[in-house]
Amino acid sequence: MRYRPLGNSGPALSALTLRLGDATRPSADDTRALLLAAAACGITSVQIDGASDDLLRGAREAFARIERRQLFVTLRARGAPEAMLASTLDALGLEAADLLLINDPQGPAPPAALENALRARRAAGQGCGLGVAARGEIDPRLLDHDLVVAIVSPFDLTSGLAERQRLREADRRGLLVFGEDFWPQTLRDGARTLPRPSLWRRRTDPLAGIGGYDFLSDTPGWTSEEICLAYALTEPTLTSVCVSAEHPDDLRRLVAVVDRALPDSVRAQIELARFSAQERDKAAGRA
Ligand code: C2E
Ligand code: C2E
Repeated sequence: MRYRPLGNSGPALSALTLRLGDATRPSADDTRALLLAAAACGITSVQIDGASDDLLRGAREAFARIERRQLFVTLRARGAPEAMLASTLDALGLEAADLLLINDPQGPAPPAALENALRARRAAGQGCGLGVAARGEIDPRLLDHDLVVAIVSPFDLTSGLAERQRLREADRRGLLVFGEDFWPQTLRDGARTLPRPSLWRRRTDPLAGIGGYDFLSDTPGWTSEEICLAYALTEPTLTSVCVSAEHPDDLRRLVAVVDRALPDSVRAQIELARFSAQERDKAAGRA
């Protein structure tokens, strides 16, 4: 595993962050096994992005067996963050989180209620940084806000200039930068399949019109998922890349990618495919 140190006090952040979601309805046993396997592989960064009782109980059991100082714990709020923070910490048996993630608040500052709650926690010695998850532009004043310490953004091998620029802006400010969705649905299904219905919901879909990615399925010794992860790991502005797994074996396969170098031929093909996508966009713009 590779690490990024976090000042003198905090734990070192591993190049991979284990994201625990509950869309697949994991049992408490599965969640605990996954977290313990992650710790055994040297993963120190965990993101809780689920609220099911089983998930929280499994995570609590695992946390009880891992030294808290060695973990960087992120909580992902998808509802009212102040209430969620207290109840989730309670369910996890933790005093504090390292990072609370909220959806893009679309303004120069976090919501006032959240800001007050976070300042009160800080005063009580249970402070935690604020992270902003967005797929689009983030207000620069928000990035400069003293509570904000991290952004979470999609990043994959089709990411364009705007997305890369956004990561650089955050990195330049000394913020932690988490990359997610390194293996987007569109690349999994191959470029020719139709997007999932939910593709309609996002304002932006960076994967529109991709093509020329056959090397994802025909590079010997590499799966499409492994190529996409290895590529995300080469992006210098990313502090950590979020991964999800259902079983410890899946996770161990992803962890092994951290120590593998992407073949030069694959790197060249990625650049070529990106270049042709850009050219197609330009041509479509002219049409
Ligand atoms: P957006 O990307 O434009 O997404 C708009 C809305 O589409 C979301 O509103 C949500 O209702 C729906 N949506 C988009 N993608 C998904 C998905 O993968 N699963 C589900 N279940 N719904 C989806 P919402 O939740 O209020 O989010 C608002 C904005 O906050 C998003 O705008 C995005 O910029 C940011 N955001 C939310 N969740 C994430 C995340 O997990 N990662 C990142 N990087 N940004 C996120
Ligand atoms: P999910 O809704 O089951 O989506 C699973 C995966 O499908 C997503 O993983 C993403 O790779 C893909 N996907 C789904 N909808 C869209 C879309 O509108 N555009 C694109 N480009 N891809 C899409 P991901 O991004 O890691 O998200 C994991 C889970 O986090 C989602 O599972 C959902 O439960 C939650 N989530 C992510 N973004 C949002 C959001 O904007 N709003 C809400 N409410 N939930 C979100």
